[in-house]
Formats: sequence, structure tokens, C-alpha cells
Amino acid sequence: MATERTFSIIKPDATRRNLTGRINAKFEEAGLRIVAQRRAHLTQAQAEAFYGVHRERPFFGGLVTFMTSGPVVLQVLEGEDAVAANRRIMGATNPANAEPGTIRKEFAEDIEANSVHGSDSAENAATEIAFFFKPEDIVG
Ligand code: GDP
Repeated sequence: MATERTFSIIKPDATRRNLTGRINAKFEEAGLRIVAQRRAHLTQAQAEAFYGVHRERPFFGGLVTFMTSGPVVLQVLEGEDAVAANRRIMGATNPANAEPGTIRKEFAEDIEANSVHGSDSAENAATEIAFFFKPEDIVG
């Protein structure tokens, strides 16, 4: 295992319910460091580009509407095996299938409003981090 970085978003359903601190505690308790963090309101163009891989999926329009419905918290997380570690901390996409103790099990409202995004590979993490952060804004 090596120290690596992953990209995270605390989604609008979670900021609306004031859950940023409780979600960040999950990351930190599991050994991930928040090395960059910025609150933002995504534009439609940003949300469409970020989720471009899902453009043909039936839920794409709803997902973009949801992701632009309120503030998000954009983050870079750093730690051992950070991409896989964060996916474990987040839990399954559908909270009904998420393990106990995971963010999505504890906080997600449904399969769409599932509180967090986390990169699914090191390659995607690098792309997603570069989409939202300048190198000098990440302080490890
Ligand atoms: P993730 O990597 O676990 O976030 O899951 P995906 O990359 O497959 O999907 C991206 C996001 O699209 C999810 O986190 C959900 O917010 C949303 N999503 C995924 N599948 C569905 C679905 O079947 N219906 C709806 N409404 N939203 C979905």
C-alpha cells in the first residue's frame, strides 16, 4: 500500500442537513486526511461534465439537477490506499446495500441523494482532483 489521494464530494443532501462535520469525522477516524476542501455550488455545466460518463443513463438528468440543488463540499483526501479506503468508508451506492457504519448507511437518503461521491480508481481520482483544484491549493 502507498500513500495516495482521492477526490470526494459531500453532496447537497448532506450539506442541507448540516452533516459536513459528521462525514469529515468518518474520514478522519479512518485515517484519511482532508488536504484540500472548498465549498461550492456546482453549475449545470460542471455537474454535466463531472458526471459525463453517465450521460446516457436514465438517471443522468435527475443526478445533475440534484448535484446543482444546493452547496457541495469538494475535497481531496490523502492516506494509505486512499481510493479504496474511501470507497469502504462511503459504502455501496444504494444505501439499502451499504454496510453498517458506512457514511451512506448512516446518512444517505436514497440511491441518488447518497451524501458522498468518491473516486473509483486512482486514474479517475487524478482527473477529478485536477477538475476542481489547483496543485497549490492541496496541502499535504
Ligand atoms: P458511485 O461511484 O457509488 O457514486 O456510483 P455511480 O458512479 O454508479 O453513480 C454516480 C451517482 O449517480 C451515484 O452516487 C448516485 O448519486 C447516482 N446514481 C447511481 N445509480 C443511480 C440510479 O440507479 N438511480 C438514481 N436516481 N441515481 C443513481
